[in-house]
Amino acid sequence: MSALFHRTCNADLPWADTGDGCYIIDRNGKRYLDACGGAAVSCLGHSDEEIRDAIRAQLDKLPFAHTGFFTTEAAESLANLLAAHAPDGLDRVYPVSGGSEAVEAALKLARQYFLERGEPQRTRFIARRQSYHGNTLGALSTGGNAWRREPFAPLMIDTSHIAPCYEYRGREDGESQEAYGQRVADELEAEILRLGPETVIGFVAEPVVGATLGAVPAVPGYFRRIREICDRYGILLILDEVMCGMGRTGTLFACEQDGIVPDIATIAKGLGAGYQPVGAMLCSAAIYAAIEKGTGFFQHGHTYIGHPMAMAAAGAVLTRLTDGQTLPQVIATGERLKAGLQDRFGQHPHIGDIRGKGLFLGLELVRDRDGKTPFDPALKLHKKVKAAAMEAGLMCYPMGGTIDGRQGDHILLAPPFILTEDQIGELVDKLSDAIAAALP
Ligand code: PMP
Repeated sequence: MSALFHRTCNADLPWADTGDGCYIIDRNGKRYLDACGGAAVSCLGHSDEEIRDAIRAQLDKLPFAHTGFFTTEAAESLANLLAAHAPDGLDRVYPVSGGSEAVEAALKLARQYFLERGEPQRTRFIARRQSYHGNTLGALSTGGNAWRREPFAPLMIDTSHIAPCYEYRGREDGESQEAYGQRVADELEAEILRLGPETVIGFVAEPVVGATLGAVPAVPGYFRRIREICDRYGILLILDEVMCGMGRTGTLFACEQDGIVPDIATIAKGLGAGYQPVGAMLCSAAIYAAIEKGTGFFQHGHTYIGHPMAMAAAGAVLTRLTDGQTLPQVIATGERLKAGLQDRFGQHPHIGDIRGKGLFLGLELVRDRDGKTPFDPALKLHKKVKAAAMEAGLMCYPMGGTIDGRQGDHILLAPPFILTEDQIGELVDKLSDAIAAALP
């Protein structure tokens, strides 16, 4: 019997032992091609020498110094590098230990910002139905996944949810992308007016939806409209780039491709690339100034914020991501992988949609393509795809997102940025076999 309590009780999982580039090798020597970075984490593969050296060097110098007493070279240089490469206006960096922590910090900073401005009546957030922002109570409140929220609903903070921008299912026949984007963005305005603009703190959204739908970008123009609406009512725009940020979509921040800058952004996963647990919240100079002039400190904090070894790892990862070669490689490899998926699955009777940007791609499984009818949730098809893929030596991230109140089946692909041509072939072949083995 194991004393380890996994997220699924009695989980019978292979024992990961070593890493080799895009592969994880279990203790029996079986190799798994990592086509999802775990959950879009391992952007540089599992054995990068430079990142390991940076962590070792920090370990030898100083493993930990509490941020209540010291700042460190590792934290200062990570913050400066991030601010230098973030969209203009995201000037201040608050480092944390992961995605949920980054979102919690964002929600609390947004609330404190309005307190400093003398607007204590602002207590509500608006977010989107198909979204995931983390598992701590604040982050869970903003997430829209009904199944995850339900047991904890009495403990939630006040958040209402509007429709996501989900073109495959939301755009009506004959409706242009632009008109569709405007229509769903306008749901935000309607909800702000329904709640009373003076009561709303902010709108929270993932620029590319990850963990509930498998890489769904918004249509062009949607986020520009969202930005305008937030500005019109003085509401903060909080973009959660925990999954889609850090080069995953081909630009360091996914929102760069939408042509907007949020007031607050959250990042994690790719920032540590799996080498350390780390995340960050970035905010505008205006928000920082309100705190500085007001209370003088952000009423928040965890013991491990700015942990020197996490900062050293993130600094080395970010140096790689901003070297001028890695992100063009993400775009080029992403295009080749998407083309490979289109070739193999473009006419597949049970793949309704192939979508995404860069190396953040998703497939949606459907019972019939014309009607876009999802499979019966009782089949748990996504779980069968995952099991068949693992059997074949492939890690992909199938998920059961909600479609119109029903469970749907999606597969997220978020491989390391170092994926080779041969590995693209291996990925597509193994995925194809796994889907064939899982289908009813
Ligand atoms: N936000 C988004 C968009 C995520 O995808 C996730 C994790 N899947 C989180 C927040 C939470 O991050 P973590 O699991 O590191 O707490």
